[in-house]
Amino acid sequence: MVEKQSKLEEKARSWMIERGVTIDDIADLVLFLQKKYHPTLDIAICRDNVDHVLRKREVQNAILTGIQLDVMAEQGELVQPLQNIIFEDEGLYGVDEILALSIVNVYGSIGFTNYGYIDKVKPGILAKLNEHDGKNVHTFLDDIVGAIAAAAASRLAHSYHEDIVQ
Ligand code: MG
Repeated sequence: MVEKQSKLEEKARSWMIERGVTIDDIADLVLFLQKKYHPTLDIAICRDNVDHVLRKREVQNAILTGIQLDVMAEQGELVQPLQNIIFEDEGLYGVDEILALSIVNVYGSIGFTNYGYIDKVKPGILAKLNEHDGKNVHTFLDDIVGAIAAAAASRLAHSYHEDIVQ
């Protein structure tokens, strides 16, 4: 089933791909979060839940805002001292986490636990986004990706609870 995507959704999805994050990368994170509760969980179901999260406007807004700031920092286009703060991914900044919380909120409070956990463990694509190679900036994107995975995992958990997986 192909649903019509808004311009906003199209942009959000294509910007994530351009920044090196695929739906499958996020689906892997969802599987990581949920496999202990559902050992037979299929990656296709994880992918489907990620897709649902990406259809939400508040998620698309967070993606576009966060990536825009990452890219501007990468290109040295932000005003100081914000340029250095975002470029260096300064620990006390915290606005990246706050922006990502607008995504976690979408599917209720289980999302918070998942978000905190995945941010601490940083599996898969999250480790890659956190490499801090001095060239690529993913200060916002790492939290956004973790939040999308957390929201998708929480949607999946709710749907299992209601015996509806899709
Ligand atoms: Mg961050």
